[in-house]
Amino acid sequence: MAKDYYKMLGVQRNATKEEIKRAYKDLAKKYHPDLNKSPDAAEKFKEINEAAAVLADDEKRTQYDKYGTAEEFAKGFEGFDFSDFMSDIGTFGFDFDNIFESFFGRGRSGRRQRRGDDLRYDLEITLEEAATGATKSVSIPRLEQCNKCNGSGAESDADIINCPDCKGTGIFRRAQRTPFGIFSTTARCGKCRGQGKYIKKECEVCDGTGLVRKTRRLEIKVPAGAEEGTNLRLAGEGAAGEKGISNGDLYIVIHVKEHELFERHGDDIYIKINIPFTVAALGGEIEVPTLTGKAKLKISSATKSNTVFRMKGKGIPYLHGNGIGNQNVEVVIEVPEKLTKKQKELLMEFDKESGKKGFFGIFT
Ligand SMILES: [Zn+2]
Ligand SMILES: [Zn+2]
Repeated sequence: MAKDYYKMLGVQRNATKEEIKRAYKDLAKKYHPDLNKSPDAAEKFKEINEAAAVLADDEKRTQYDKYGTAEEFAKGFEGFDFSDFMSDIGTFGFDFDNIFESFFGRGRSGRRQRRGDDLRYDLEITLEEAATGATKSVSIPRLEQCNKCNGSGAESDADIINCPDCKGTGIFRRAQRTPFGIFSTTARCGKCRGQGKYIKKECEVCDGTGLVRKTRRLEIKVPAGAEEGTNLRLAGEGAAGEKGISNGDLYIVIHVKEHELFERHGDDIYIKINIPFTVAALGGEIEVPTLTGKAKLKISSATKSNTVFRMKGKGIPYLHGNGIGNQNVEVVIEVPEKLTKKQKELLMEFDKESGKKGFFGIFT
């Protein structure tokens, strides 16, 4: 009969690790052969341990979900050995915490080879670069495969031998007799850390790790429209993994420097510009800075202070999809602090012309 680990622990297929842990703990107490003297308790106890050992390990659980049944899973999972998990259980009166640690803790099989680490690099760009896109040169320190030994960690191929302690199997196996039957237990070989291979003479360049620390220069293409927190993933540009295992990825996290003139609101930018009161009154054309150089802006006559003019398409391109944001210009009307005699006369003339409700009543 196909074994269903979820049913065995009485949890849903989408159970969290915490739920699995709790279910396991309850059942382990219930069926522990020291506490439960019914004839099939030991067998049941073994089963829930097997189930917990698989479901508590993310990688094994994913594999198990893929294969559907314990039997198929055992066939499909290379080097999987259930007796492995029974090693701690042979000793009765065991410590639950100990078991928890081996199932639910960090406990990761040493035989599993590791993919290289993902790396993160924080890259600062200007608002102009965010608007146009940019190519930035960066230096990333990371682990790379050792060239001398091609990642094997050995001085030469002949220096890689089957581990003399475990005869290349990576494990020690022993049968343990208990009042409840014989438990086959296994322990990982300490000499080869479960690898089965042993390096007689280590590579001098990498001290047997197969990896060396190097700084790599990369050209990063920052897309137009990038904003604070934009994440660029460069597959395979992270740290090197163990020999034959893929590199990690590199994540470039974009930071946009604050601009001295512009404020950014999404894809739009905003700027405040002072204009002379004469331009505000009469209308005219002024020159304003944009992210790509200076541009002309038409001011209509009788413009009030704090009017916002929109310059279409002078903002930042959309990061996703087509289109460009706008530049919004808020005008602030400026009155000259000093007037020449001539200017004063002209303004008084103007004021007279405006009548009692003089615009510049200050002069009346
Ligand atoms: Zn060994
Ligand atoms: Zn090396």
